[in-house]
Parts: sequence; C-alpha cells; structure tokens
Amino acid sequence: MLIFELSSKGRRGYNLPQLDVERIDPQAYLGEYFREDLKFPELSQLDVVRHYTRLSQLNYAIDTTMVPLGSCTMKYNPRINEELADIEGFKNLHPMTPDQYAQGTLRLIYQLQELLKEVGGFKAVSLQPAAGAHGELLGLLMILAYHKDRENLHKRKVLVPDTSHGTNPATASLCGFEVITVRSDQKGELDWEDFEKKLTDDVACFMITNPNTLGIFERRIRDIAEALHRRDALLYMDGANMNALVGLTKPGDWGVDVMHFNLHKTFSTPHGGGGPGGGAVGVSDKLEPYLPVPVVVFEDGQYRLNWNRPKSVGKLLTFYGHVSVIIRALAYILSYGSDLKKVAQHAVLNANYLKGLLKGVFLDPYEHVPRMHEFVLSAQNLLKHEITAMDVAKALLDRGFYAPTVYFPLTVKEALMIEPTETESPKTLERFAQALSEIAELAQKDPQSIKLAPSKTPVKRIKEAEANRKPVLRASLA
Ligand SMILES: *Cc1c(COP(=O)(O)O)cnc(C)c1O
Repeated sequence: MLIFELSSKGRRGYNLPQLDVERIDPQAYLGEYFREDLKFPELSQLDVVRHYTRLSQLNYAIDTTMVPLGSCTMKYNPRINEELADIEGFKNLHPMTPDQYAQGTLRLIYQLQELLKEVGGFKAVSLQPAAGAHGELLGLLMILAYHKDRENLHKRKVLVPDTSHGTNPATASLCGFEVITVRSDQKGELDWEDFEKKLTDDVACFMITNPNTLGIFERRIRDIAEALHRRDALLYMDGANMNALVGLTKPGDWGVDVMHFNLHKTFSTPHGGGGPGGGAVGVSDKLEPYLPVPVVVFEDGQYRLNWNRPKSVGKLLTFYGHVSVIIRALAYILSYGSDLKKVAQHAVLNANYLKGLLKGVFLDPYEHVPRMHEFVLSAQNLLKHEITAMDVAKALLDRGFYAPTVYFPLTVKEALMIEPTETESPKTLERFAQALSEIAELAQKDPQSIKLAPSKTPVKRIKEAEANRKPVLRASLA
C-alpha cells in the first residue's frame, strides 16, 4: 500500500486534494515500475522524524561545531540570507524571462557587480562563474584571448608558487599552459630570486594567492605586478583569502589584472557539500573587453543583458551565475555596509588569538612572521611518538570539533592548516585550543589511544586512499 497521509488542511493551511489511498491501484499507478515484492517499510511519522533527525546529527556541521578548515573559510552564514535567497520572485524566476520582466533580479546582480568592483578595485566584474575554480578558468581564458590579440603566441607558461591551491596549476594545465613552480622563501613569501629567474618572456601570467595559503601576506605584490607588466605578462590573483582583506585594501590597486572571489567562502553561502557556489571575477582595463557574455548593464533607467561584446570569450554557464549565491553575497555585504572591514579585522584577530593559544603545542615554521586570517602549524613534534597530523585530526573529531585541513600546503611537513573565521567567539577558540593541547599531551602519555580515534563517530578509521579511489556513495537499505 502506498503511504499517503494527507489531511484536507496542509501544514501551511493550503487546501490539498484528498487522496483515497484505498482506491489507488498500485499497478495502474506505477505502471512498468510496479513490482509485487516491493516492500515499503510502514513507519509512523514520529519514527521517520526521529530517524532523519538522528541522521542529520551524525555529521559535523557549522550549526553544531566549529569547522576550522584552512583555506575553505567555513564561517557561519546568517539565516536571514537564506530567507532572502528563498523569496519566491527570485527563486522561481525563469532564466529565459525577458529583461524587462526580470528587473528586480538584474538589479541585484548589477548591485553586487558594482559593490565587488569597489571591494576589489576593479574596472569590471562578472558574476557568471559557478565556483572559484570556474573563475580561474574564465581568468585564464581571458588571458589567452588577451595574448592572442597581441600576437603574443609564444607566451605558453604560467607561474604558480609552491604554496598554491591545487586548482591553480590544474586550471593552467587544462588551458594548455606549461606550469612552472616558484619557490617560497624562509619567511613563507615568494622567493624573489627564483621568481625573477623563472619570469622569462614566454610567461603568460603568474597565479598568486594573497594572503597566501600559509596565511602570510605577500608584501612585494606591487613589485611582482610591475615585474610581470614589464614583460607584458599578467597577474592573476586567487581571491579565496579575501576574508583577510575586504574593506582594508584592494587587489586592483596593487596591479592585479584579474581575480576570482569565492562568494560562497567570503560572502556567506553554506558550502562543503559541493555547491552551488559563486566565483565572481574582477578584471582590470586590459581584460575588460574579454568578459563573458552576457554582461549586465544599466542604461536609460533599465537593467539589461548585453550580448554585443565582440571580444568576449563567450559563455561560461548555461544561464547567468547562481542567483541564490549572488543574493546571499549582496545581503552579507549590505548588512555590514561601511563596516565591511570588520569581517577582515575579526578574521585576522581570531586567527592570531588562536595561534597565540597554541604556542608551544605544535611547531610553527613561521613563528615570527605576522599572520592574517589563517595559520599553518606542523605536527612534526609528535612524530617521535608516531603520531601524525592525520591522527591529530581524527582525535579532534572525538572532542566535538571538525578537523582542520591537513597535509596542505605541501611546503609544511605534517601540516595543520587552521582558519577560525570571524564568526567564532573567543570562548570557542579557547575550547578548540584546549582540545588540541589535550591531544598533544596524550600523544606523549598514551599515543595508542590516539591511534584508535575516532571512537565516537559512526564511521571509525577508514583507509584514506581506498576511500578516495573507491568511494561508497550509497548507503544500503538493509
Ligand atoms: C577554495 C579555493 C579554491 C577553489 O575554489 P572553489 O570555489 O572550491 O572552486 C582555489 N584557491 C584557493 C586558495 C581556495 O581556498
């Protein structure tokens, strides 16, 4: 029997049609999908609610615990933004609606474009890319088009620092470039000598993250831009770490030619499950002609999609960006208003407070270098007890915290990459530091207990390599 239990008054007081379940013939209803032996469990609503509520609590989430993943910026996303993204008129607008009937949505898109131009110091912004890596693809396609226009066909190399996020070399390689790695120096910044040596005439661009993935600000960023521009190479900035900068300084002012924002990281969209996201891209004068179509413009009191862009690299997405992510980002920025810099100030303050609390617990390869919104420690001091960064991460799960990013960036051995974000309170940071200190102490006294962690999670230790290569993505219904 099919389980349909509908009252004449729905949850929200809608009038729902009454289904007479007794009279439904399953065979006629399900057609070729009907199988006599198909047994649906018969459960009360209460049992079903409890089942799914329990399942929802088996995982760690920002609603239940701090998620200190370095690089990912897992901050709390205000609920009001969810409600705004859920407004019928935006949510149900058909993407093919003619411009004159979509003025509200186009206005929001235009407004966010203008605000991001201001925040990043750019000539223009496109909100089309669906994520950071997608923004990188757009950036490099525009750089290719730029060099092609100037008949710079010999420019086939892209430089990336050894601390770069994996998507940077991956995108460069996808676009057919040769990837050249530049070393970082003792202070965790770009090694200037190595950079100068590798900056040859065939370099198309340099992809840099600032602050870099060690949480360290690249102080020579203007020199880097100048050196590149002297050779008609461009500067791509990975803006995933804008959390550390918003409202304080503008990459466009340093000479950055193109940058992606990760709207879902910096400007509040819940993420971690794979999307949807937003990879807005800002550009300098040089790349403005190549922006993807359509471009949202405001002319004669009307918002409109402009397709007439002869030099455009084309279209990046079926329609125009992920509107729900755009709405959340706009709401986040407007809610801070002229105080937007507080995002960056609190993110940096939180990271440095936490770093201070953890002093002496783990090794800090860049102890005397000022940090921005995140920092990378090394669990190498625990190796003598045969405890690794992965063990520390697992033991954190038993103490009610999500684990930080581990083994990245590759330049730090046994790396623990921690980003508390601006939304955690000092109390939470203290509890987190306490948990890490306990783990480090236990590593000396009773390393075996850490090897057995996690013991409180539904899934215990997994074989990492096998879980990556042969993931089991479907639960059996046994
Ligand atoms: C997250 C991240 C990316 C990729 O962004 P997605 O939105 O996940 O595609 C690139 N670079 C850095 C430094 C990042 O942290």
